[in-house]
Amino acid sequence: MTSGQGNSDVVPGRYWHHLDDGRIQCDVCPRYCKLGEGQRGLCFVRARQNDQVVLTTWGRSSGFCIDPVEKKPLNHFLPGSPVLSFGTAGCNLTCKFCQNHEISKARQMDAVGSLATPDMIVQTAQQWGCSAVAFTYNDPVIFLEYAVDVAKACRAAGIKTIAVTAGYIGREARVEFFRHMDAANVDLKGFTEAFYHKLCSAHLEDVLETLVYLKRETGVWFELTNLVIPGENDGDDEFDAMTRWIMDHLGPDVPLHFSAFHPDWKMMDTPRTPAATLGRARDIALKNGLRYVYVGNVHDHAASSTYCHHCHTRLIGRDWYELSDWKLDEQGNCTECGTACAGVFASQPGQWGRKRQPVRLQASRNVAGNQR
Ligand code: SF4
Repeated sequence: MTSGQGNSDVVPGRYWHHLDDGRIQCDVCPRYCKLGEGQRGLCFVRARQNDQVVLTTWGRSSGFCIDPVEKKPLNHFLPGSPVLSFGTAGCNLTCKFCQNHEISKARQMDAVGSLATPDMIVQTAQQWGCSAVAFTYNDPVIFLEYAVDVAKACRAAGIKTIAVTAGYIGREARVEFFRHMDAANVDLKGFTEAFYHKLCSAHLEDVLETLVYLKRETGVWFELTNLVIPGENDGDDEFDAMTRWIMDHLGPDVPLHFSAFHPDWKMMDTPRTPAATLGRARDIALKNGLRYVYVGNVHDHAASSTYCHHCHTRLIGRDWYELSDWKLDEQGNCTECGTACAGVFASQPGQWGRKRQPVRLQASRNVAGNQR
């Protein structure tokens, strides 16, 4: 823990309690940091100030970008549509392979953060015709109060919300958090306690519990991502155990993305994931009964596309993040055999393509206006 400083972005936290020894425990995530006055939690953005736990980064962002929804990745949620994406700073996991470590490890929010109120975010999403706002780049669990305020403003304006998260969240906090989300991509980083312990300082069981909660207790559309790291979580036994568990606990319709690792952060000496490994993982998942299994971070048109689980027609073709084929009717059924494809679909595919468009909130009205 480190000492915190007050600033104007501080709001009271909602999930914490006093301990008998005088410390306060933060209950937002299963790390359950125990804080003395002036200390910050491991995520750095939550701190004990004036005998309560506060969030210190409300209304602060590390940057905005409009991406295709496929980049979150979500392949069954309004395909082809643009999503206004942003993050803040800090994280509640310590993944040695983090691919966003400039943000997740940021310690000086004032240096990297710009003002982003819920109204400004909604206005920007509307100006650019975004179907959704995504909380991504770092885990929104740690800025729960801010994420919920943004999500409420989005709902009021008819804009969907997407959480990109590791699913490492406390039991009470997750009820409020996911109540305000329409979709999520949850990282299932590995399928052994040893992996979570050694590389993320976290626990597998807490993540699995979140996934079961999402499936049984919420209407959130969610997909899973597994970053496959050579020598760490790339064994056939692990792919087999993970996908059997998904079948048994979440069912066949939850899409699963096997994503390629590239050297980053504290794992610069680990090689990239061979495409063949992703293919092997996908084959095992399909053999175990999962219907929608994808590979990511590699160019593979066939394994990035969506197929009807009944007649095997290619329903949605993808070339990187660009859609090609589209064989769903207005209700999201296969046009060849009428079988429903699981997901949330508009009557027509979105047309955003694979563009990545950085935006600045304050200037967005003029920028968008100039494009019309
Ligand atoms: S959100 Fe998690 S990491 Fe952050 S202070 Fe709370 S318990 Fe600690």
